[in-house]
Amino acid sequence: MSNSAFYRGLELAQTAARGAAADPATRAASVQAAVDRELAASPSAAVRACQAGCSFCCRHPVGVTLPEAIHLRAAIDRLPPQQRQERIAAVTAAATCTAAMPWGALAALACPLLIDGRCSVYAARPLPCRSWASFDATACERHSRGAGDIPCDTDAFALGLGASAGLGPDGQAELRSALAAMLHAEPDDVERAFAAARRAGT
Ligand code: SF4
Repeated sequence: MSNSAFYRGLELAQTAARGAAADPATRAASVQAAVDRELAASPSAAVRACQAGCSFCCRHPVGVTLPEAIHLRAAIDRLPPQQRQERIAAVTAAATCTAAMPWGALAALACPLLIDGRCSVYAARPLPCRSWASFDATACERHSRGAGDIPCDTDAFALGLGASAGLGPDGQAELRSALAAMLHAEPDDVERAFAAARRAGT
């Protein structure tokens, strides 16, 4: 994983966030769009195996920054009413079931935002989901069964990590835990809910 990719992500986030509106969801969307453009333009884009409908990586633990969690919460709120209720129930149940699990054990579990193998909030998915990129979908499938490693684009992931650091200097919370707390919080209390959520990596 290269330091230069990390610092490029940090710089991208700081530049994109400066040009965006003050509200956190717009700032997150702006940084995510900048990262998407950079990833699409990189030479390794042509040999990445990732494509729509492939969701093996949606079984990895995910850390989200506060602006991204607010962006995700708004995206869930915009889902059709029944889907919204189902996602809130799925996220809440997943957060409860996984609260005592170590971070590594989360790797075996599907993200509660998946519906039929697709992300229900794809346009608002956080930076780790955008920047995790595999060179071999077969290896991802094998890895989902607990075997082998995934040859992944480490520079792409480093870019996403740097952008996360720039977007959310207060750190990342675990996706299920943060969303479950924030979906049940009043709008003016989401920052406190995020701060109380499980930290990424713990
Ligand atoms: S937020 Fe979406 S893209 Fe990310 S792990 Fe969950 S379902 Fe997959």
